[in-house]
Amino acid sequence: MQAPPPTTLPADVRGLLQAARDLGVDRLDAQWLLSHHLGRPRTWLLAHDDHPLPEALSRRLMADLSHRAQGLPLAYVLGEQAFCGLALKVGPDVLIPRPETEVLVDWALDLLPAGLPRQVADLGTGSGAIALALAARRPGLRLTATDASAAALTLARANAARLELDVSFLLGHWWQPLAGQRFDLVVSNPPYIAEGDAHLAALGHEPQAALTSGPDGLDALREIIAGARAHLAPGGWLLLEHGHDQGSAVRQALADHGFGRCETRLDLAGLDRCTGGQRCEGPTRANTP
Ligand code: GLN
Repeated sequence: MQAPPPTTLPADVRGLLQAARDLGVDRLDAQWLLSHHLGRPRTWLLAHDDHPLPEALSRRLMADLSHRAQGLPLAYVLGEQAFCGLALKVGPDVLIPRPETEVLVDWALDLLPAGLPRQVADLGTGSGAIALALAARRPGLRLTATDASAAALTLARANAARLELDVSFLLGHWWQPLAGQRFDLVVSNPPYIAEGDAHLAALGHEPQAALTSGPDGLDALREIIAGARAHLAPGGWLLLEHGHDQGSAVRQALADHGFGRCETRLDLAGLDRCTGGQRCEGPTRANTP
C-alpha cells in the first residue's frame, strides 16, 4: 500500500529520503535524484542529511519521486543517462542507452585506428549514444547517424551540440537516407525484441519502435544486413547489437550476404550481444540461386 501524499513538503535531505521510502521508491534512486539536483556526489548526502531543501526544489523532487513510484525509468525522471563516459540527455522518444551497448562501441573503436578520417554510420541512433561515443573517442571520424524518428533526431542533435561533437544526422529508415553513400564501418543497435516477448512488459515507457521488430525480433537486423553490402566500402565492417539468443541467426544472415570474419562478442553478463562481419568480394549466397 502506498502512503497518502504528505501534506507538507520535506524540508531537508532526511525528510526527502523518508518520503521516498513512504512512496516505495528505491533509496538509491532517491539519492541519485538528490545528488543530481543538488550538484553533489551521492556520498556527500550521507554526511548532510540535515541539508535544507528550498521549497521549489522539494516540490520538484516530490514530483520526480511520484513519477518514479509510478514506474517511469530513473533515466527519464533525471532526463539524463551516462553512456561511455558521456552525459546524454534522454527522454521517452528514445531508448535509454544500456551498458551492454558499450560492447559495440569498444568493438568499433578496435576497428578505427586513431587519426584516420574513416567514414562511419550509426543506423537508428536514438539519443545519438553510439555515434557520439565514437566521435568523442576518435576525433576526425566522419560520422553520419540516422533515425526514422524526427523527435529522436532533435534530441540527438541537441546532445551533439551540447557535447560539441561533430555528427551529421539524417532522418529516415535504416539505409534510406544514405542512398549512394559508402562507409568503412556501420554500427547499429536496432530493435530486436520479438513482438509479444514477456520482457517487454518491463519496458513499457520506452518507444516500442526502438524495441520490437517482428515475430522473432529479427526483421530490422535482416533488413540492415540485406542492404549493407551496397553501403560498405570493400573491406568495410558491419557491427550489430542483438538479443542473447540471436547470435547464430545474425552470423548466418551475414554469411548469406557475403560477409566474412563473422564473429559474436559477449556482454558483461556473458551473453551473445553483438555480431559483426566484414564485406568480402565475390558473389553472395543470398544473390546466387
Ligand atoms: N537491450 C534492450 C533490452 O533488452 C533492447 C534494446 C533493443 O531492442 N535494441 O532491454
